[in-house]
Amino acid sequence: MKYFSTRNKNLNFSFKDVFLRGLAPDGGLFIPQKLKIYNSSELKELSDLKYTDLATEIISNFCASDIDKKKLKTLIEKAYKGFDSKDVVTIKKIGNINLLELYHGPTLAFKDIAMQVIGNIYNEFNSENKKIINIIVATSGDTGSAAISALSGKPNINVFVLHPHNKISNIQRKIMTTIGSRNVYNIAIKGSFDDCQKIVKDMFNENEFREKINMSGVNSINWARIICQIVYYFYAAFKFNNKKINFAVPTGNFGDVYAGYIAKKMGLGIDKLIVATNENDILKRVIDTGEYKPDQAKPSFSPSMDIQVSSNFERLLFNIAGEDDKRVFLLMNELSAKGFFKLSREEIGIIKKDFCAEKINNKDTLSIMEEVEKKLNFILDPHTATAVGAAKKINNLSSTVVLGTAHPYKFLETVKMATGKDVQPPIQLSKIEDKEEKYDILENDILKIKNYILEKII
Ligand SMILES: *Cc1c(COP(=O)(O)O)cnc(C)c1O
Repeated sequence: MKYFSTRNKNLNFSFKDVFLRGLAPDGGLFIPQKLKIYNSSELKELSDLKYTDLATEIISNFCASDIDKKKLKTLIEKAYKGFDSKDVVTIKKIGNINLLELYHGPTLAFKDIAMQVIGNIYNEFNSENKKIINIIVATSGDTGSAAISALSGKPNINVFVLHPHNKISNIQRKIMTTIGSRNVYNIAIKGSFDDCQKIVKDMFNENEFREKINMSGVNSINWARIICQIVYYFYAAFKFNNKKINFAVPTGNFGDVYAGYIAKKMGLGIDKLIVATNENDILKRVIDTGEYKPDQAKPSFSPSMDIQVSSNFERLLFNIAGEDDKRVFLLMNELSAKGFFKLSREEIGIIKKDFCAEKINNKDTLSIMEEVEKKLNFILDPHTATAVGAAKKINNLSSTVVLGTAHPYKFLETVKMATGKDVQPPIQLSKIEDKEEKYDILENDILKIKNYILEKII
């Protein structure tokens, strides 16, 4: 399978290029030139597979030219060995909520599902090429910990993680800063997640720096993240006997819900993809009105969704514009020149065929957590709560699968506030409180961060 850029279809890349570069050289996002589309008998066959075999089948469509299927299967099996759910993910019925728990990996958020596989793919690509790879990641809390867990101690790799100082939960920070690994560097940036993400994107666009440090990235703009996330949409839909269902997805950078959209394009029977946002509702605004206008990110109870520049949305633009790279180029130029763009009525209509969006504010997030605990004796994390709220708002819980994106322990202060309950540390994190934290605090200044990285690696 070959890839091109959302801003230029004349460029041509292999999966390995796409994996190692993260961002296309013209600033666009990588996207496959063609998707595998399953017919109903193929879907039937897939529905009998266990999770790791299903993952092998689906992911190999996207990378078979660079990783053979047998090898891929072993990488995937190894990636999910440490998960505390036998089938990697767990589907639960809680009252009339169908919850797909995606947080059984080592750092208790859905990001582990892609990141653990990605860590093993790095090993694979790196074994041929001995040059040290420096991975630079921006995180709103969970990507960083998942990346560190997947990459810590790996040979020929350094990981630099940028998180917004004081804007992530204590547990999120501790998971990252207590790892005590020689190849992991944590940097708290005095700014927002959007600032962190911008620094990483700007570094990618500086050819000289990128090549000098042999830079790579694992942010959700990396296509490899998306392909690992497509799998659980198939897995969950199959459990509902292919009845057309909705998925409600706590959304920030639009990676997870975009994976659902790709699953639908590949032939899976999905009705609506429900985008749940918190107070940072840029995606709700663009889906309802067509205006994409990033605001200042506001801190909320669901920090991993405190994002205003929702990077993967560019991929959807490419799809709904009929794969018109020039249209995407124009919109993205407008965004950087004027600070916003506006979609046509026709384009909004195309988006609305597959998506709807709901905003769940801080107050509602807490009351959903409280209500679910009181009535159903189940503790939701604040991100998952936004998706429960969104599915409820459109009055459709029974035919909707809610993606549970994080374990409540990661947000125990918010859980306590909403429900009055304490959350016991899951086995993965039982010793975290006793470990020493290590991180540096830097200004929101790309030059300072580049110098920091250069000092550490030379
Ligand atoms: C990252 C994250 C999200 C948002 O996912 P996107 O792919 O960025 O839309 C939601 N919930 C949790 C817990 C997360 O860590």
